[in-house]
Amino acid sequence: MSDAEKWQPYRHPQPPEAAAELVVPDVVPKDERVWVPVEPNVWFRPLLLCVSRGYWCNLLRVRRAGVLSRHRHPQPVHGYVLKGEWRYLEHDWVAREGSYVYETAGETHTLVVDPHVEEMVTLFQVNGAMIYVDPDGKVMGYDDVFTRLAKCRAHYEAVGLGGGFVEQFIR
Ligand code: FE
Repeated sequence: MSDAEKWQPYRHPQPPEAAAELVVPDVVPKDERVWVPVEPNVWFRPLLLCVSRGYWCNLLRVRRAGVLSRHRHPQPVHGYVLKGEWRYLEHDWVAREGSYVYETAGETHTLVVDPHVEEMVTLFQVNGAMIYVDPDGKVMGYDDVFTRLAKCRAHYEAVGLGGGFVEQFIR
């Protein structure tokens, strides 16, 4: 292949059914309103709400110690810790700043942030759903890409960004 060929962009249109690519320049947003509150001192920041395949990518930010949630994963989760640390009561490892975590399908675990942690921020790609359960596995509630989307829309309306602000994250 000649150098000219090598630098030649793909000559054909993308498939018409393919969704548009998505680039989020400020993953940690400059505008505080982009963070969607979940409960006092817990927020998420959407990056991708993939309604066509039933998963989402977001940052989770926590500025309090204690139990965040006990949940079951019907499908796997990928996590990358950007700041601080957290752990699960069911495991002896700690997810520290810089860690990658793979949570396997079928796992039920209890997310905690310890008192010495001022703030934790983690990028999660969550497939399917988070099913919130009691210590015996009894279902208390759930989140999926659609409940996340609804929370974003309501929050962005309330803070003046407009419900349409969330559209940029939907694929
Ligand atoms: Fe989990």
